[in-house]
Amino acid sequence: MFEKVLIANRGEIALRIHRACREMGIRTVAVHSTADANAMHVRLADESVCIGPPPARGSYLNIPAILTAATISGADAIHPGIGFLAENARFAAMVEEHDIVFIGPTPEHIALMGDKISAKQAAKSLGLPLVPGSEGAIGDDAEAIRLAGEIGYPVLIKATAGGGGKGMKVAQSPADMVQALALARAESKANFGNDAVYIEKYLTHPRHIEVQLLGDGQGHVVHLGERDCSLQRRHQKLVEEAPSPGLNRTERAMIAARAVDAARRLDYRSAGTIEFLFEDGEFFFIEMNTRLQVEHTISEMITGIDLVREQIRIAAGAPLGMTQEDIVFTGHAVECRVNAENPDTFRPSPGTVADYHAPGGLGVRVDSALYAGYAVPPHYDSLIAKLIVHGGTRNECLMRLRRALEEFVVGGVETTIPLHRRLMGAPNFLNGDYDIHWLERFIAPSEQA
Ligand code: ADP
Repeated sequence: MFEKVLIANRGEIALRIHRACREMGIRTVAVHSTADANAMHVRLADESVCIGPPPARGSYLNIPAILTAATISGADAIHPGIGFLAENARFAAMVEEHDIVFIGPTPEHIALMGDKISAKQAAKSLGLPLVPGSEGAIGDDAEAIRLAGEIGYPVLIKATAGGGGKGMKVAQSPADMVQALALARAESKANFGNDAVYIEKYLTHPRHIEVQLLGDGQGHVVHLGERDCSLQRRHQKLVEEAPSPGLNRTERAMIAARAVDAARRLDYRSAGTIEFLFEDGEFFFIEMNTRLQVEHTISEMITGIDLVREQIRIAAGAPLGMTQEDIVFTGHAVECRVNAENPDTFRPSPGTVADYHAPGGLGVRVDSALYAGYAVPPHYDSLIAKLIVHGGTRNECLMRLRRALEEFVVGGVETTIPLHRRLMGAPNFLNGDYDIHWLERFIAPSEQA
């Protein structure tokens, strides 16, 4: 087993990884930008190394600085966390070239699934159903309009290098196409440095269902059930739950088996997720995430499995410590993402946390790097806490979640907690009756105010 792991990330996910390491008796090295010198992930780690200035380009994305930090601290392995370098195949390869273990999948799998076109082609060859759409990146506008006509409107234009819901535009008719294409290309160029786009049929009422997988790269793959991540704003998840209230037993078993089969054919290593849209009883592959996900926590709550611990064990060369039969699903879990944002306008709200009180009690987990007096920097993602609640049934889980949200105090910065509280009174949410477009309509009246 590793003696020392460098955590190439910040915030709650850096803490999450530190906690798994600590329980396994592994020492941790934190890296941080100058803006994060007093951050909780730095305080809790055994050692820390400053890797650059506040903008992520100079620090958390600075590969030479991170590799140097790993070398001088003598780390045996690097965990990339979520975001930043987690899906950068070149980084994963460079880590290995430095004789340091990358805690994650192979660079080849990261590259294969990182490009949406090669991911779709791979999914097709692995037997997964695709959303009807273009075979590859599209050429000029005329070709795009011809293809969209074949697929049928509405269509969604997506960036081949996409991520985080960016570079996606809907076109309702041929008249919308020229503008939607230009917008999608420009957004993609600005975010990913590449303006290649492709087209998919735009599904009007799907749920987002994803299957959590764990493979050891030695022929074994298991699933930890599905998550329903349909509660989204601008294609970004706000609340997730497991299991999905929208699947029956047969659908649940079928999609998990299809995902496991695909991952087994890849001989996938580490934690990964295959994402699908589910509409009118049919599943369609959208992407595979070759990393841990923000919402991995709810799968942990219903299975009792520590996914980060398993990632570390697998990276150290151990075979999967469990078979599918060993995994017992218990109860229901929901995660609320607490962002430092105005709950109506979603404008980021960096600043100093004046008061902080995290909820507790049976079945309540808070993953956060906050403390009273902490200054939320303006440079990074606005996710500041995850409230994760488990209950024996969905109903018990939601009662507990409502109670936990009442207790949660984050003063000094605006947060999305009031939105989550409001959601707890929405009949559609309580009944599990929602698709990927529902939350935007629920938010809309106050957003327009
Ligand atoms: P990203 O990598 O940017 O997160 P995804 O392909 O995972 O992009 O899609 C993110 C979200 O966008 C999905 O959860 C869904 O809400 C929406 N979406 C993606 N593809 C479609 C589609 N073909 N029709 C309708 N909504 C879609």
